[in-house]
Amino acid sequence: MVDLQAVLDSIYKELTPRIGEGKVADYIPELAKIDPHQFGMAVVTVDGKIYRAGDAGVPFSIQSISKVFMLTLALGKVGEGLWKRVGREPSGSAFNSIVQLEHEHGIPRNPFINAGAIAVTDVVMAGHAPREAIGELLRFVRYLADDESVTIDEKVARSETQTGYRNFALANFMRAYKNIDHPVEHVLGVYFHQCALSMSCEQLAKAGLFLAARGSNPMTGHSVVSPKRARRINALMLTCGHYDGSGDFAYHVGLPGKSGVGGGIFAVAPGVASIAAGSPGLNKVGNSQLAAVALEMLAARTGSPVFGG
Ligand code: GLU
Repeated sequence: MVDLQAVLDSIYKELTPRIGEGKVADYIPELAKIDPHQFGMAVVTVDGKIYRAGDAGVPFSIQSISKVFMLTLALGKVGEGLWKRVGREPSGSAFNSIVQLEHEHGIPRNPFINAGAIAVTDVVMAGHAPREAIGELLRFVRYLADDESVTIDEKVARSETQTGYRNFALANFMRAYKNIDHPVEHVLGVYFHQCALSMSCEQLAKAGLFLAARGSNPMTGHSVVSPKRARRINALMLTCGHYDGSGDFAYHVGLPGKSGVGGGIFAVAPGVASIAAGSPGLNKVGNSQLAAVALEMLAARTGSPVFGG
């Protein structure tokens, strides 16, 4: 049996000299202010044990990791009908690319690129006011994490609302193709708030534990989705979770995962544990540099349940 705490401690120690590597996302002004010298990891096993290293308890902006929670909500509302609105193929292009969307007539490649996530948010809104949809997501994430202290950072949401020109372009484009039903400002209002969810590695790993445990959270006993749906969400994370770095992440880490430009990466070791790592400095494709290395080390030292030892 691997001593997980010892593995986390050794990874933290080895990576400490590299804390601060990468480039903090600065296209969202509020994120540009983040101190790059942070690094944390948390692992929650399916038998309910929690392991932590570094800044595991410090909340950060989860950004695109929220797309996993919104996708879960949307599948719960419309089931397989969701795939009329968004595809399931890796994009091979940047997270905010507009070119592909034009080629594919307003149907985004997958739910984890921005365009796809915006379409998913539109589905979750289902005729509700933005405030209600934001409330629904926040309640859902608190329920998943079993933690009422999870919040949304209003400053980050506002900052992105003021500068998210590309996302407005993507949403308007999809609206022109009738793939967005609600007013664009409303959909993006919800989307920017979901991205501004502020969570620590520990809260994130707890919230995602259902994906490691066949759809139910073994710590709370809450049944969230069916085993089949959990498997499918994991499959999408494996193929599409890291934009055009998805292949590289699967190659190096070998686990389903989702990254965010706030510097977090959430990953799932099916049947074993859910994991979150975070450090604000990003690599060229917008994934946390140190968190990706840390997850690679963790997978190498514990064995990948997806691809074998
Ligand atoms: N809120 C960010 C955006 O839409 C999310 C991107 C990300 O985390 O990858 O640009």
